[in-house]
Amino acid sequence: MEVHCDGCAGCCMDWTALIERDGDGSENGTELECGADGESDSAEAGLSEPGSRGRFGDSDADATNRPPFDSDANFVPLTREEVRTFLDRGLAAAMTPRFWHARDESEAVEIDGHAVAAIADRPVFFVGLRKPPKPVAPFGRAEPTWLPTCVFLDPTTLQCRIHGDEHFPTECGAYPAHNLELDQETECERVEDAFGGDRLVDDRVTDDEIADGPLLGLQAIGEKLFCHPQPTELEGVIDRLEAGTLRPADRAECLAVASASSSGTLAVSESHYEQGKARALEVMDGDTGNDSDDDDADGDAAAGESETRSWVGPAIREWIRRYRHHQQSTLGDATPPAELAVDIEEARGAPETPGWDALE
Ligand code: SF4
Repeated sequence: MEVHCDGCAGCCMDWTALIERDGDGSENGTELECGADGESDSAEAGLSEPGSRGRFGDSDADATNRPPFDSDANFVPLTREEVRTFLDRGLAAAMTPRFWHARDESEAVEIDGHAVAAIADRPVFFVGLRKPPKPVAPFGRAEPTWLPTCVFLDPTTLQCRIHGDEHFPTECGAYPAHNLELDQETECERVEDAFGGDRLVDDRVTDDEIADGPLLGLQAIGEKLFCHPQPTELEGVIDRLEAGTLRPADRAECLAVASASSSGTLAVSESHYEQGKARALEVMDGDTGNDSDDDDADGDAAAGESETRSWVGPAIREWIRRYRHHQQSTLGDATPPAELAVDIEEARGAPETPGWDALE
C-alpha cells in the first residue's frame, strides 16, 4: 500500500463542506455556517452535516451502521489504552465520545427522548479525537477554508503532530489498510473522486499493514466500543452531543467509563472510573468557561504553564473563538492563514511538524 498524503490529510479533517459548498470542489469564497450559540463545542459541530460519509465505511458495522448523534464524518476511534494514555498525558481535552441512534427498540435505551443504541441496556460509545475549526487549504486549494480538523493536525503542513509518537492512534496508523482489507472505499479514493489526482498510489496491503486487523464485533467491547453502565448519568449529554454543545464534564464522564472498561466484558472498574474522571476534570479545568469568551488569553497562558495540562484545550478554545469572530465579522474578512497555528498551537507547546521537503 502506498499513499500520497502531501497536501491531502483528507482522513484528518471533515471536508464534506467543501463538496456541499462547491459541488465540483472549486473555490467560491462562500463561508460555512456555524451553529454558534456561545456554548462549548458548537463550532466543531456546526461546520458539517451529520452522516454524510464515514472514515471507515462500514468497517465498524456492528456499531456504526447506525447514524451517530454527532456530525463528524471522519471520526477516529481510540482504544482503551490510548484513552488512558491521553488522559495520563493531560490530553483529555483532545477527546470526545460518539453515541449512535438505535436501529430498533430491542437495542435502545431512551435518553433525552432519543433511542440510543445499547448493549444489555448500556449505551455504547466510541471515544475519538476532536475536530476544532482550523483554516486549512487541502487538495491544492489556493486559499484556506475553515474546516473541522483533527486537534493534532498541523494546518500549515497538513501533517500530524503526533505521527511517530508512542500515542499515535492505532486506527490512524492502520488507515487505509483496514478499509482496503474490508473492500471498503478509502478516504484517499473519495478525495480522488472529488478533487482528482492520485492519492491511493498502490492498493496492495501487506501482512504487516493488516497485522492486527480491524477491531470488530464483540471483541471490540471494552477495547474500542465502550458500554456506559448508568444511562441516567447521560441525561442531557445526548442532547448536547447532537446539538454540538458538549461540555467538558460530559466528555469527562465518558472518558472515565472508557478508561475503566475491561476487554471483552461489560465490567467497569469503579476505582479506575473515579481516577479517570478526576484526571479528566483536572486537566480540563478551565475548559468549563464559555468557548466564545474573548478574554481568556491570561487563563490560557497560565494553563500552558501547568504541568497537568497541555496545549490542546487552550488551543481548541482559541480556534473556536477565532472562528466565531470570523463568522461574526461584518467586514467580510478573508479566512486567516494556516500559519496562525504557530501562535495558537506551537506557542502553547504543540510539537512542530517537519514539512514535506524534509521527508523527501
Ligand atoms: S491523530 Fe494525526 S493521523 Fe490521526 S486523524 Fe489526527 S492528525 Fe490525522
